Amino acid sequence: MRSESVVQIRRLVKRYGSKTAVDGLDLEVHQGSVTAVLGPNGAGKTTTVETCEGYRRPDAGTVRVLGLDPVADAAKLRPRIGVMLQSGGVYSGARADEMLRHMAKLHAHPLDVDALIERLGLGRCGRTTYRRLSGGQQQRLALAMAVVGRPELVFLDEPTAGLDPHARRSTWELVRELRADGVSTVLTTHFMDEAEELADHVAIIDAGKVVAEGSPEQLCRGGAENTLRFMGRPGLDVGSLLKALPDGTEAVELTTGAYRITGQVDPQLLATVTSWCAQHGVMPEGISVERHTLEDVFLELTGKELRS
Ligand code: ATP
Repeated sequence: MRSESVVQIRRLVKRYGSKTAVDGLDLEVHQGSVTAVLGPNGAGKTTTVETCEGYRRPDAGTVRVLGLDPVADAAKLRPRIGVMLQSGGVYSGARADEMLRHMAKLHAHPLDVDALIERLGLGRCGRTTYRRLSGGQQQRLALAMAVVGRPELVFLDEPTAGLDPHARRSTWELVRELRADGVSTVLTTHFMDEAEELADHVAIIDAGKVVAEGSPEQLCRGGAENTLRFMGRPGLDVGSLLKALPDGTEAVELTTGAYRITGQVDPQLLATVTSWCAQHGVMPEGISVERHTLEDVFLELTGKELRS
């Protein structure tokens, strides 16, 4: 049975003047899952997330978060969700630990502040004012502020942008712990590895619409083609090999004796290639199958790199 949905977006439209930032977007987020919203710059990710947080009012369509209207029911919703903004929302003269403790006090069942500070490597920043923290520290503090109230649902807008690898890993661990605690997470990211590592569900958005969604596994299987490579005698009759393979498959000798086959690479195709090799007295060496990554799927769907 599918878990309850915590975010429901139906045909959302959001315009800024004549610019349509979100253009009929549908998205559903299930309880306890991590949903990654991926898209090129300007795709409408931040606008979508800000609409869920109640910071923007839809021009058309509906948004429900924990069953509530994020604008009309903001007072009821705010204590139940955690929000990590890309920037701002923080008084820059306040000390990091003060802000976190203050935030914790606003909630009935906050996380242990000291443990959270330790967890995110903010131990030495406690007495430092926000404006004096490094970009990475500000980022981690914003994450801590978003989760300290033990929310049911958190929105993280590019949570690891600009973080060093160690800080990225601790952020990922925290997101995994939140999921283990039953917290639902919606995150936007430009990092494919982040989506592949963390997300149960990925929505790829482009020009204000969801263009593909599914688990990372489903997207990689369904979208892009896969590649099979092997080494053999130079100058094999690639045309004859192609005749044995299904329509739509491509085969080339990339460099001398190095062959690459692209298409729906499944066990049947592998069997056909090896049996063709056997018939032609070829010992295929170094056979490898490459599964395409979310990055390939993304490029294929949007024609764009994730970061421009
Ligand atoms: P990025 O990955 O660069 O953060 P995004 O996918 O989050 O991009 P949005 O920030 O939602 O995209 O922006 C969607 C579109 O709306 C962009 O073309 C952007 O320039 C435009 N836009 C966003 N905010 C405003 C605003 N306040 N006024 C006018 N246009 C805006």
